Amino acid sequence: MSEAQSEAVRLRVEKIGKVFGRRDKPVVEALRDIDMTVAEGEFVSIVGASGSGKSTLLRIIDGLLAPSSGRVLVDGRAVDRPGRDRAVVFQQDSLLPWKTVIENVAYGLTLARTPKAEAHRTAQHFIDIAGLGGFEHHYPHQLSGGMRQRVNVARALAVDPKILLLDEPFAALDAQTREIMQTELLSIWQETRKTVLLITHQIDEAVFLSDRVIVFSARPGTIREEIPVRLPRPRDLHLKRSPEFTALVDHIWTSIEAEVRASLKQG
Ligand code: ADP
Ligand code: MG
Repeated sequence: MSEAQSEAVRLRVEKIGKVFGRRDKPVVEALRDIDMTVAEGEFVSIVGASGSGKSTLLRIIDGLLAPSSGRVLVDGRAVDRPGRDRAVVFQQDSLLPWKTVIENVAYGLTLARTPKAEAHRTAQHFIDIAGLGGFEHHYPHQLSGGMRQRVNVARALAVDPKILLLDEPFAALDAQTREIMQTELLSIWQETRKTVLLITHQIDEAVFLSDRVIVFSARPGTIREEIPVRLPRPRDLHLKRSPEFTALVDHIWTSIEAEVRASLKQG
């Protein structure tokens, strides 16, 4: 890939603002003037205190929620509703319990009227990439939480989106599973070279995975800081013990600590 191609802008968020109006309570300004760009193939994370508007921004990018101001562009084209160019994975898996792993992964393709044999071939490819080979015919309830989230990621990738949007995808998992999932996600990303925008409240997860970390400030949600992560790839969990890694995590933590503490008090 040429330098010019690798620098191509995939996602552009322009002056996004969001105000939630509520009849019985004060209005909430969830986002103000959010400007950001994600390059093709880049892995970017957003971290910030709870309530800083991270999920709101992701839902606006996906087109599930209309912004109060600003716009979202994918490959230079303004988008205002969900489309196959963006796929989202949330904290809770959204698998269909009556369908097997391969049927779940193929589901989006089937909806788009891809012939079944082809849909299953594509699904199989992403099942293998997600390390789920051998579980094609299992049902969601037969899998662990970590495996179900891998099925979710495989399903999101199967429709070949331009951007993978992840909103705290590992938040419901225990600490050890979560670390394993981080390395799994890195290898999936290495293999597919998708553009990824990840939301997480775990700073070390953001630094470990990303090319760049965007730090949000709360009330209203604004971008406080953007931090390039120039740690070598491929990365493994040992990286988390390096001084460079710890210094970045400390820097980000110092930047948001006061807000995280405040958000704990506000509930
Ligand atoms: P985060 O994901 O960073 O924790 P959210 O985007 O979920 O933050 O929320 C940002 C702010 O917007 C919070 O104050 C939240 O209460 C408010 N908010 C989110 N969704 C709605 C909604 N549908 N109606 C009213 N307020 C909302
Ligand atoms: Mg959230």
